[in-house]
Order: sequence, then C-alpha cells, then structure tokens
Amino acid sequence: MADIATNLRRVGAQISRAAARADRDPATVELLVVSKTWPVPVLQDVLDAGHYLLGENKLQEAAAKIPALPATTRWHFIGHLQRNKARKALELFETIHSVDSLRLAIHLDRIAGELKLKSKIYLQLNAAEEESKSGFSEGELREGLDALLALEHLRVEGLMSIPPAVESPEEARLSFRELAGLRDELQDRWGVALPGLSMGMSHDFEIAIEEGATIVRVGSSIFGPRHVKPGASK
Ligand SMILES: *Cc1c(COP(=O)(O)O)cnc(C)c1O
Repeated sequence: MADIATNLRRVGAQISRAAARADRDPATVELLVVSKTWPVPVLQDVLDAGHYLLGENKLQEAAAKIPALPATTRWHFIGHLQRNKARKALELFETIHSVDSLRLAIHLDRIAGELKLKSKIYLQLNAAEEESKSGFSEGELREGLDALLALEHLRVEGLMSIPPAVESPEEARLSFRELAGLRDELQDRWGVALPGLSMGMSHDFEIAIEEGATIVRVGSSIFGPRHVKPGASK
C-alpha cells in the first residue's frame, strides 16, 4: 500500500493548487482525513505525518478507536447520527457534519447544554432528495433555519452535502455550485454567517475547492481503497 505520508503530501499539494486556481488562500481549506474502517495503527501513521484532523462515520467504531489515540487528535463525525447516540457523539466529536433534521438538532442542543458544550455542526443537505441519503431538503432547511440558528449550544458552521453519484466532474461541479449558492443566499436573507462548506471527497475534492469548499472529506486518496467487511454498509 502506498505510503500515507506521501499521499498526505500529494493531497495537500492538490488542495493548494485547486485553491490557487480559484484565487483562494489554501489556508481557508481544511483536510478532514476520513479514517473509517481503518484500524488504530494506520491512523497513528496519519498523526505521525503531522495531520491531526480525522473523520469517522460510525459511532461504535469511533468510540473504540478514539481513546486509543492521543487526545490532541481532533475528530469530526460525518455519518448518519441516530438520536440515541447523540450524547456519545457530542462527547467524542468537536464537530458533527451530518445534522440532517431539526428534530435531531434540537435533541443535540439539549444534550450539549447538559454537557456544557458549544458544539459545531453542519446542516446536511439532500438537495436531490435521494431516498438513500439523509439530509434536509431545501424547503425543510428554509423552514427550520430560524429555529436552528436559535439553538444555544450548537454553532451552525454551514452546509454539508454528499452529492449524487454523477457521470462527469462537471456535473459534480454543478451540485457544489448549488450548495455554495444556497449558502450565499441564506447568509444574505438571514443576515448570518455560514462560513463552512463541507463538500468534496476523494474523486472530486479539487472541484469542490474551486467551488468554495472550506473542508474536504478525503479517505481513499490517503489510505487506498477500503475493504468493506461483508454485511457492513459503507
Ligand atoms: C467515506 C466518506 C467520505 C470519504 O470518501 P472517499 O471517497 O474515500 O474519499 C467522505 N464523506 C463521507 C460522508 C463519507 O462517508
């Protein structure tokens, strides 16, 4: 398997070039290394290479791995979150990218209050309203935004999406551009700052950066292909 430090450098250079193409400061783009399915020693290689921001998508898996790594590691949650796992998620993760309903957000806010946290969240958009994916529809987001912004113990960083699988990079570009455009419009209308755009994965993160991504979620370009266990979903 290719060397993780080498891959991190390559992805870092790709991020810088994509930012430069869009006249953006590369420092405004964070790399979230998606470490799901990979065991602790592999994650340690990422930390040894000087990268401390990791993303996981399953609570149980993350809860086993996180205590085994240094406390300086920063963890972001990117998977579908069930309400009964909200407390654990808030305890383990500084940021949750996958808040997909007002109901979940209200629940998280109450628990974050009990834990005396101010947790960062992204609102996950399912703009194409795909049944296999969770997320706010655009209508739900507009209806819920006042209530979401009023939650005392959560800070809405911005929007997140996992765009539909598409044929061409240019189609991916379109869906990133739509998410950025929606964010711009919400900022204007509501008079709030929603600086974060969590979009772009291994196959399309450079395009996402050209379209304004502030954090890209990259797994297989760093680790190689995931070997998904039978019965595991993604
Ligand atoms: C797995 C995953 C990624 C990373 O995907 P790669 O194609 O391996 O880069 C990004 N975002 C989410 C939500 C994921 O579940």
